[in-house]
Amino acid sequence: CGIIGYAGDGYDKEVLDVLLTGLSGLEYRGYDSAGVALADETISVYKSEGELEELEAILKEEDVPSVPVGIGHTRWSTHGPPSDRNAHPHTDNESSVAVVHNGIIENYESLREELSAAGYVFESDTDTEVVPHLIHHYTEQGLDEEAAFRKAVEQLEGSYALAAVFRGSETIYATRQDSPLVLGLADDGTYLASDVPAFIQYTDEVIYLEDGQFATLRDDEIVVTDADGTVLDPSIETIEWDA
Ligand code: GLU
Repeated sequence: CGIIGYAGDGYDKEVLDVLLTGLSGLEYRGYDSAGVALADETISVYKSEGELEELEAILKEEDVPSVPVGIGHTRWSTHGPPSDRNAHPHTDNESSVAVVHNGIIENYESLREELSAAGYVFESDTDTEVVPHLIHHYTEQGLDEEAAFRKAVEQLEGSYALAAVFRGSETIYATRQDSPLVLGLADDGTYLASDVPAFIQYTDEVIYLEDGQFATLRDDEIVVTDADGTVLDPSIETIEWDA
C-alpha cells in the first residue's frame, strides 16, 4: 500500500503521469486496488480494484483533465473488501475534498455513526471515508481548508498517512501518525509519498515528516508544522540512490 501526491508548476509534467509513475514505484509494497484524484475547479476521481493496469485502462477511456495537483493510492484493504467502491481516493458527498489514507482509523465506527446521524451518506465500507466527511463538516462550520483538515485529523485515533486535495485549490494537505510519509522538493513542484522510490526519478531532496507533523505542499514550497500549527524548520536530506 502507498500514497503519492504532486503539486506541479503546470508546465513541465502532467500531474497524472507523475502519480502513475509514483504508484508503480510503490507496487513493491503490495496492493489490491489503486486510484487517483485530480483537483482543479472540480475533483476527478478514477479508481479500480486490481492492478495498476486496470486503473490505466479506465484512464485511457476517459477525457482526463490537466490539473495543478493530484493524489494517488495503492490500497491494501483492512476495512471493507477489495472493490472499486472501496478503492481510494474517497470524497465527501459534494466532492469538495478527496482523501487518500494508509493505515487504520481505529475509532471510525463512532465517527461514522455521528456523521451518518448528521446526514452524511457513506459510499464505501472503509474506515477512511470518515475523513473526507469530517473535513467537509468542518468547512461547513466555516473553517478554512487547512483548519478543517487539522480539526478532522484531531478526531482520529489509529495509524495514518493522509493526504487531501480540495476543489478549487492548488495545495495538498498531509499528515502522518505511525505510517510513513516523505516529502520531495524540486524546481518543478513538490511531492509526497509513502517511500522515496515513488518520486526518486524527479528529485532526491527530501524531508521525512515525523509523527504528528503536518505539511502543506504547493508548487513552490512545502511548509511543515507541528500539531499546534507552529512552523518548523525541517532538515532537507539528499538521498543517495542507485536506481
Ligand atoms: N484502512 C484503509 C482501507 O482499508 C487503508 C488501507 C491501506 O493502508 O491501504 O481502505
